[in-house]
Amino acid sequence: MSRFTLPRDIYFGEGSLAELKNLKGKKAILVVGGGSMKRFGFLDQAVNYLKEAGMEVELFEGVEPDPSVETVMRGAEAMRKFQPDWIVSMGGGSPIDAAKAMWIFYEYPEFTFQEAVIPFNLPELRQKARFVAIPSTSGTATEVTAFSVITDYKLRIKYPLADFNITPDIAIVDPKLAETMPQQLTAHTGMDALTHAIEAYVAGLHSDFSDPLALHAIDMIYDNLTKSYAGDNQARAQMHIAQCLAGMAFSNALLGIVHSLAHKTGAIFHIPHGCANAIYLPYVIEFNSKVCADRFAKIARMLNLKGETDLELTKALVASIKKMNLQLDIPLTLKEYGVTESDFTENLNYIAENAVADACTGSNPRPTSVEEMKMILASIYYGTKV
Ligand code: FE
Repeated sequence: MSRFTLPRDIYFGEGSLAELKNLKGKKAILVVGGGSMKRFGFLDQAVNYLKEAGMEVELFEGVEPDPSVETVMRGAEAMRKFQPDWIVSMGGGSPIDAAKAMWIFYEYPEFTFQEAVIPFNLPELRQKARFVAIPSTSGTATEVTAFSVITDYKLRIKYPLADFNITPDIAIVDPKLAETMPQQLTAHTGMDALTHAIEAYVAGLHSDFSDPLALHAIDMIYDNLTKSYAGDNQARAQMHIAQCLAGMAFSNALLGIVHSLAHKTGAIFHIPHGCANAIYLPYVIEFNSKVCADRFAKIARMLNLKGETDLELTKALVASIKKMNLQLDIPLTLKEYGVTESDFTENLNYIAENAVADACTGSNPRPTSVEEMKMILASIYYGTKV
């Protein structure tokens, strides 16, 4: 038996933010981040649409990047006081992820964070509120996924919460919001989305439901990411859709060790999530090609890349990703990124062990040992063949 879960409604296209005025309810809490949504006028627009829907609106502002357990608990407390029947989250991945976690402790105050980090262990949500997610960046796709990443700063650990209960009820994918992304963020989030799609296409739980979404996302990202990076707003609108399709795929098919490595190197080498994925993806494809070159070849054929055999086509795919990284000003190795050799060697064991233990390793198509993880990391550092 398998399961495939998505939001009930996805509104997309320019102007879809206005759908907020059609929500039926009494009270909405709007959860946002540091201020870009306010600066660009989207916060006011959202508040006005919710008021047009006849709702009383309260704001929860200032969710930090990589939101903390404390922020989540403060938000849950605010929700318990206000008693909203809609939670509306808007912004990059962080405010949406934080709001998903707040939702849990709003509905179940006695539930603990330690219980919530156990995968697929959440109590039945939607007893008090339903959830709307409105992304302003084109990468994490948290608006359609069953995941939320919350950081425990005391333990210096990022916890992925995973449960279909926190898949939003409604996603509003309005490209206007994504036009505000700075150039480098466009590159990094775009490569995060490409990694989601490629990892989902070969991941352990990939299915006939997730495959078409993953493939179409890859196709759209190849057509649009570099143009979006160059400032083409039509391409940027396409990227906003493509990342959402990739999210629908990976929320159900899960991911692989590109993400395991990105999770565990992020905090140590101070490397943004999407940038880490972009650097690691070609090397991990080489490693995984031992077991699923046929699927990489399918991707390459769809992209009209040249090659006769599955391995040649996989090679062409790897080369095309490296080329895209160069076009997006993303380095090809960790050394080029600026990690010193001593810093790398000192942390190699620690990262490899933690990456093997990461939640994404189990769904990688090729089982990966600590020794293999170290070998892949060495290739990523020096730019050598896996
Ligand atoms: Fe990601």
